[in-house]
Formats: sequence, structure tokens, C-alpha cells
Amino acid sequence: MSISYLNKQVIDQIAAGEVVERPSHLVKELVENAIDAGSTKIEVRFDNGGRDIVVQDNGKGIAPTELAMALDRHSTSKISEYEDIWNLSSYGFRGEALASISAVSDFEIISRQPEAPTAHKIQSKFGEKSDVSTTQLPVGTLVRVSQLFENTPVRIKFLKTASYEHSLIKQVIKAMALINYKVEFKVFDGQKMVFQTPGATTLKERAQWLFGDEKVFSVAKQSDGFDVEAVFMSPYDVEKNSKNIWVFVQNRWVQDKMIQSAVMEAFKNLLMHGEYPRVVININCPKDFVDINIHPAKSQVKFTDTQKVFRLVYHTLEKALSSGPWKEMVTNPSHESTTTEIATSDLSTSSVPSMTTPVHHSTQSSFRDPQLFSAQFQKKVFPTPHLFADRQVPIATEVSKSAAVVNSLQTEKADIYWQQYQVIGQVDLTYIVCQNAEKMVLVDQHAAHERVLFERILNQYKNGSIGIQKLLIPISMDLEVDQVELLLKNQEQLDKIGIQFEQTGPASICILGIPTEIKEYGVLKLIHQFINEAESVSTSYVFENRVKDFVATLACHSAIRAGQSLSQSEMEKLLADMDEHPLSSFCPHGRPVNLEFSFKYLEKEFGRIN
Ligand code: ADP
Ligand code: MG
Repeated sequence: MSISYLNKQVIDQIAAGEVVERPSHLVKELVENAIDAGSTKIEVRFDNGGRDIVVQDNGKGIAPTELAMALDRHSTSKISEYEDIWNLSSYGFRGEALASISAVSDFEIISRQPEAPTAHKIQSKFGEKSDVSTTQLPVGTLVRVSQLFENTPVRIKFLKTASYEHSLIKQVIKAMALINYKVEFKVFDGQKMVFQTPGATTLKERAQWLFGDEKVFSVAKQSDGFDVEAVFMSPYDVEKNSKNIWVFVQNRWVQDKMIQSAVMEAFKNLLMHGEYPRVVININCPKDFVDINIHPAKSQVKFTDTQKVFRLVYHTLEKALSSGPWKEMVTNPSHESTTTEIATSDLSTSSVPSMTTPVHHSTQSSFRDPQLFSAQFQKKVFPTPHLFADRQVPIATEVSKSAAVVNSLQTEKADIYWQQYQVIGQVDLTYIVCQNAEKMVLVDQHAAHERVLFERILNQYKNGSIGIQKLLIPISMDLEVDQVELLLKNQEQLDKIGIQFEQTGPASICILGIPTEIKEYGVLKLIHQFINEAESVSTSYVFENRVKDFVATLACHSAIRAGQSLSQSEMEKLLADMDEHPLSSFCPHGRPVNLEFSFKYLEKEFGRIN
């Protein structure tokens, strides 16, 4: 075949694939156009797997003389110079969306400007434009798309089921509605209205609508021309996938793995494996710090300094989380308020997340129901503000058989939570059985001790006060030359975490001292983990970011094992140790430390009460 130029229609069809690969992309483009036009109300209707779409807005409209042009490729009212894209205040700038969509569908656009007496419309059947004619429409613009991809059958083949495509469309609209919180959205799936946003004046309010819950927290941080705003739910309200981690950069919804991992990192020690938080995060950076034009669908961005963004997101969230009320509720059991503000000044919150659960009162609940005692559920059970608030009588006088406990309760009431329990014994050499006036509690001895060690070492690390035990017989380790060099390069940091070693050959070291709380095996594990991670990320490795993980490793491998027999005093000591630090209701990997069985629940199960 000799070389020849493709005709315009073919070029448009090919190009359309980049911008509108699937219906949800198209909806995003049309909603972006509506927002760029200054609309305050947007209505979206979709059907037939997203192959029929209508988007109507009340924005500023398009002049009749420009209607035909709007459908041409590279026609835009939003930029005129390349430089303009660095100083953009609109979503659009490529002038491609309408051209692409109208090339692959039966397309119609009707528009009326505020001062115009009538509306005008133009149609395009798979790229064949009609003339402009007058018609009726309230001020604004309506775009109607049908038979999407009819002339490019391969694209239809790539579409998934209608319900899947519809769910993608809804996800896109939710994202647009979240970040454009002042705009009202009404959305129809076929004839059925699937959602309508109530008016909102803040991102937080819109997030409350999206999450269907009042109990959201927000934090904002400004520095260096960066502006980070995050809205999140407590680590008790979690998801099984990442679909409720919403990331925006310059008000654009982006799919950015780096930011997502910064979010996960901040939540890490509060979540279990397979759990994801509910978070909305919006980052506004200096305009020359981020390139939004690296992908035709504009769903990806490129930062000048990725690490900086990672740190900013991580630290903002981590700080907010470390002063959240979930922590307070554990440290201060007498806490009754349901309107606690997070102490940090730049943090605002509507209310304490309520972690009550109906399960203890549920008639369907069954001891054998695996769902009932899933970790996820237990997480929500313990510890609830209500649990503490409902308590009428000081527990010590009612329950505790131990004089020591009564004493310490009187003197240091606020710091006692776990010590209020009477230890009954150990079952399966793994769980400590205890009780108070209201319930029986099983404590996982490994998870509990792991959490204690984790908090203890982390605190000592932060205060620079890690206790060191000198090893009588130093442990020698044979490694590779590069690995020894890596360790030497980070000797100062390792020393700070309590690991003292010296080089004994080009490819060997010996460990001289380790943290007091730790078993040798834990340290060996940590060194291997450190080497693996540092090697895999090489230059950008930041020890500080990994400290929590290392401490979790140390704690895990040094904690009391399951299957280890404990004496009464060892068990009591463990509960006392658990009162030392907050957050001891999860192990560092996020597994629950305890399960609760209220006596009410037992009575019900045994048929003593209804
Ligand atoms: P871009 O948004 O990148 O400029 P589009 O192809 O999406 O390119 O739109 C082309 C032009 O049509 C826009 O620049 C805008 O002037 C106009 N336009 C599109 N949709 C609307 C709308 N809903 N309201 C007003 N003007 C619109
Ligand atoms: Mg556009």
C-alpha cells in the first residue's frame, strides 16, 4: 500500500479512542465542560451501558456562531498559548472532547446563552455535521449522545457489562461532585434517579453526603505554596477495597499510586491487612510543580518532586490520625463526650466517631456466625464511647478482685483500662480470658504483647531513649559486600533504633547490642528486611519513613507467642502493660487484640432473656 493521508473522519475516530475509551470517560469530559462553563446545576442521565448519555447544565452556553466550531478538533475557548496550560483554571484545554465524542456517536448539542432569546442546536452523525438551527432550551447547554461507538464496533467489544459501565460512570460523577462541592448534581440511571447532592459549602459536607455519614474528620495544611486538604473517616469505618480513597490534584480526580500509598502508609498501623480507609484528599500545588498534560484523559499527573508530595500527604494525615478521638477513647475510659474536637489546632471534626454496634443486641447474632466475630466487626465493637459513658458505677468497686488494681484505679483513674479486668485464665495457650461487670473479654496474648512492644519501642525511639542490651555472645552475620556497605551507610539510624553492630570483614558484620525488649531473632529479621527494602528502592530510600515497619517487625518477632503458657501474674502484667500506651486495641498489623462478649449477649444466647 502506498503512503497516503488519512481522511479527517478516520483521524477523528482514531483520536477519539484516546480521549473516550469508554462511556465513563465521556461523562467526565461532558461534566468537566459543564463545570468550566460556570454551571451551578448539572443533570446527568445514562442508559444502555453508557452508550446513551445526556448531560444538561445551566452554565454560560455557547454562541450559535461557535457551535459548529466547538465540534472541531483543537478548538477551545480555554487557552490560546501553550504557556496557558501552566496557569489554568479550567478542566479543559485540549479542545478534543466534543470532536472525539461527535466522531463516534449520534451526537447533538443544544445551547442557549443567558441573554439569548432562543437556543441553537447542531447535530453530528458519526462526524457528519448538520446545520445549526434554532430550538427551545433554558439557559445552559445540553449534550445528547446515543449509539456510542456504533461506527467503531471494536470499541463496543471492549465494553464490559452495562452494570459495570454504569458503576464506572457513577464513580466518575461522584468524584466530580465531591470536588465541585458547590455544584448540585442530579443523576439518573435509566429512569431511576440514583443520586442527588444536597447543597454543600465545604468539601467536608460533600464528603459526609458521599460517605453517608456525619462522622468525618478534616485536616488542612498549607506550606510552601502547597495546600493539602483531607477529609477522612475513623480507622474503624473501613472498606474492603480502595474505591473510597479519592485523590485530587489541582481539583482534578487522578489515579495516582504514589499518593494512594502515602495515604495507606499514614493509616497503616490502624488498619488490618485488606482494609482500606475512606479518605478524600485534595492537593493544590504551585502551578509549575505539576504537569497535568501527560495523558489525553488528564487522569494522571506528574510532579517535579514526588517525594515531597508523598511526605506532605503522609505527614498531614498521620498527624491528624495520631490525635484522633479513637486514641483518646482508649487512653481515657471515663471520656463521655460525643463531640470531642481533635486537639490539633488545624484539625476540625464534627463529632467523635461512634463505634457502637448493634450486634450485641441483634437477635440473629450467633456465637458460631463467623461474620459476627470477624475482625472487622470487632474493630467496631471496641472500645466505644458509649461503653464508657454508660458505666454508672466505678468498675473497680464492682468487679475487680485485685486490691492492687483498686488502688491504682483510685490514684490514676484515667490511665486504667485493661487493669480493670479480672484475669480468669488462659485458653488454648493463646487467649487470656478476663471479665468485668458487663462482659467477658478474650485477649490475644501475642497481638496484645506485640502492640505493647511496638508502642514502647516507638516511643523510646522518638525520645532517643531506647534501652540497649549488650550481647554476651555477639551474633555474626554473613552478607554480601554491597549489603554490608548499605548497613554501614545507615549505621547511625540503626544505632538509633537500638541495633549496634560492627563490620568484621568485607562481607560480614557482628551484632553487639540490641534493644532491651527485643529477641535476637527479631533483630535478624529486621536487618534482612532493611536490606531488602533499601536495595529495592536504592536512592530514594528514607529510613525515617520505614521506622514504624521496622519497629513492628521487632515487636512481632519478640512478642509472647501463641501457644506459650502464661502464669496468672504474667497475664496480669500484660494487661497492666497494655495500659501504658494508647491504641492498644489493635496489634501493629491491625489485627484486633481482643474480642468481647457481653453478659447480655451470653444471656440471650443461653435463652435466659429475650
Ligand atoms: P475543551 O474543554 O478542552 O476546551 P471540548 O471539546 O470539551 O474542549 O469543548 C470545546 C469548547 O466547547 C470549549 O472550549 C467550550 O468553549 C465549549 N463548550 C463545550 N461544552 C460546553 C458547555 N457545557 N457549556 C459551554 N461551553 C461549552
Ligand atoms: Mg472539555
